[in-house]
Amino acid sequence: MRQVKKVNDVVKIRISGLSIGIHEFHFVYDSSVLSLDGNFPKPVEIDAILDKTAHQILLKVNLKTSGRFQCDRCLDEFEQPISTSYQIFYLYRSTETERIVQDELQIISPDTVEINLTDDIRQMILLSVPLKLLCSEDCKGLCPRCGANWNLRLCNCKEDVGDPRLQGLKDLLNN
Ligand SMILES: [Zn+2]
Ligand SMILES: [Zn+2]
Repeated sequence: MRQVKKVNDVVKIRISGLSIGIHEFHFVYDSSVLSLDGNFPKPVEIDAILDKTAHQILLKVNLKTSGRFQCDRCLDEFEQPISTSYQIFYLYRSTETERIVQDELQIISPDTVEINLTDDIRQMILLSVPLKLLCSEDCKGLCPRCGANWNLRLCNCKEDVGDPRLQGLKDLLNN
């Protein structure tokens, strides 16, 4: 079993002394390390490929975890796998001569010991949460009258709220 890293830790990669070339890292962190709230109870799996040259580091990061959310329609909790990836360049510069505004670029000094990925990872995971949270694409939602969860059972007031799928049947019965 891989050890899950805990609170008070940060997600970091030591780069001082790292040889030129490609290096791969795999970490598993408790989601509390990333200050992710209760929506992310599962550990976060981090796969990183680091490509170091004399003047820069290119870091590609794949993230995997799972979130617990409340369905917008039926208000039930459900779990949804979350996976996302990003890449970032760290440029070695002894002085920050130009102001760089790109997200995917950071200036680091040549004597940087380690790079801290904590904030980037937290942000990427939060950004990958879908805007519309549904327990399933065809979630039937709640009855606006009695509050019954239509995924679990139909209620008697269903026909009164005018479900178009029942209209044909109603017409037949009324004739
Ligand atoms: Zn739902
Ligand atoms: Zn109802």
